[in-house]
Amino acid sequence: MTPWFDPTQVFIGGRWQPCAGGTTLPLENPSTGEEIGRIARGDHRDIDAAVQAAEAALQGEWGALTAAERGRLLLHLGQLVSEHFDALAEMEATDVGKPLQQAKNDVIALARYCEFYGGAADKVMGETIPFQNGFTVYTLREPHGVTGHIVPWNYPMQIIGRSIGAALAMGNACVLKPAEEACLTALAFADLARQAGFPPGALNVVPGLGDEAGAALTAHPGVRHLSFTGSVGTGRKVQAAAAENLVPVTLELGGKSPQLVFKDADVDKALPFLVNAGIQNAGQTCSASSRILVQRDRMDEVTERMAEAYRALRVGPAMADLNVGPLISARQKDIVESYLSLADPSEVIARGEVLDNAPKGGHYVAPTLISGLDPDHRLAQEEIFGPVQVLLPFEDEEDAVRIANGTAYGLVASVWSSDGGRQMRLAKRLRAGQVFLNNYGAAGGVELPFGGVGHSGHGREKGFEALYGFSALKTVAAHHG
Ligand code: NDP
Repeated sequence: MTPWFDPTQVFIGGRWQPCAGGTTLPLENPSTGEEIGRIARGDHRDIDAAVQAAEAALQGEWGALTAAERGRLLLHLGQLVSEHFDALAEMEATDVGKPLQQAKNDVIALARYCEFYGGAADKVMGETIPFQNGFTVYTLREPHGVTGHIVPWNYPMQIIGRSIGAALAMGNACVLKPAEEACLTALAFADLARQAGFPPGALNVVPGLGDEAGAALTAHPGVRHLSFTGSVGTGRKVQAAAAENLVPVTLELGGKSPQLVFKDADVDKALPFLVNAGIQNAGQTCSASSRILVQRDRMDEVTERMAEAYRALRVGPAMADLNVGPLISARQKDIVESYLSLADPSEVIARGEVLDNAPKGGHYVAPTLISGLDPDHRLAQEEIFGPVQVLLPFEDEEDAVRIANGTAYGLVASVWSSDGGRQMRLAKRLRAGQVFLNNYGAAGGVELPFGGVGHSGHGREKGFEALYGFSALKTVAAHHG
């Protein structure tokens, strides 16, 4: 897999160029542990140049485009993403370690974000507000200006699509700092934006380390809005930096999302969702469902059926396209294994199988299903970010809500039940940004607003809602006598 661009460069003001420090960082293939290339180690000087290029774009060609013209550029970009389908999928699979089919799904999502936000760009409208005689009052939705985007390594294409897509649709100029562990598709996206005809400076991409390039972006006084997806700890730093400059911030910080299986659930239908939502992308998914709550009447049945599904899971290199690939890094593998060491062997119900011929340098962990824990156990409370699910029994609806809402997080929840009244009651009572009834995740749902409460963050991305987040509302009151 050789990218068609030079990944050792940064993309600023519509041009590829070496980073200011002239140094690079290694890029690892998580499936093998081998170095597959190098990326630029951008720092505060590159971030500063990128913010200046973005400001110039807003004052120049980019800022002068109509909403319809911005939308057309995004649609063209989406077409180019689709035309580079195989290259992007292979790049993401190799860089992130996710099975090829999952990487293909991410390319489809990226193209769809470009299509959705391209189509929406000229459909964001203000209001006229009835007011006193002699006045006409209306609202305008305007771009913030330069927006800063920090994305993690787990779903680079999807998170870039939802964040950059919406920001560009509203006419912001973006500076993107991708994660150092996986940033090839961010760089590819920048080059496709260039090919699509985006004016110089509308999108700038500066790879580098989080506490160098990332921190410089969050602290830059020229950045008017910050959007961050990642850990709670780094999210706190980003919010503190946003507070310093008094700019709005969107934080998406993961979760400990539950699926609630009631005794009247269609378990045949639920089963693939119960398992896949925990092991997709090796569990390194902000909206992973890491807690499965089952009404006691069906606990034995669900446990046995999930255990059977787990025993059939195969783990190996991304390009082998099995159920589960490696974790992103040796560090992430250490984190997950140290969590697993908290479980007593008797609590491990079933594990998947890492293929014997999986490369020894890859960061593989067998998916693990755990039961018998107290809901307050660390394994049932903390985000593990690996292929680990915990089964927890509950007695009745009240008990289910108590356990489901009993973590610091609140990103996603789902209810499996054939009782319509219960579905409606729980949709209101569950503490989460998204609640799914008899499904989980709605196949990604580009159109559906997404974000959390509590330690899962605040602000919403995806759907039309993101367009409001990436714009500022101006009220105009005209007095005409
Ligand atoms: P981080 O939150 O540290 O990384 C996410 C992004 O933030 C990366 O682009 C990173 O850059 C950047 N970053 C790191 N430090 C700073 C900083 N001081 N200022 C600005 N940006 C910064 O997550 P990790 O990759 O360290 O993963 C650790 C844990 O975080 C995981 O185990 C998981 O629990 C959680 N996580 C959650 C995600 C989610 O989707 N909600 C995604 C990823 C992780 P760089 O990587 O280059 O240092």
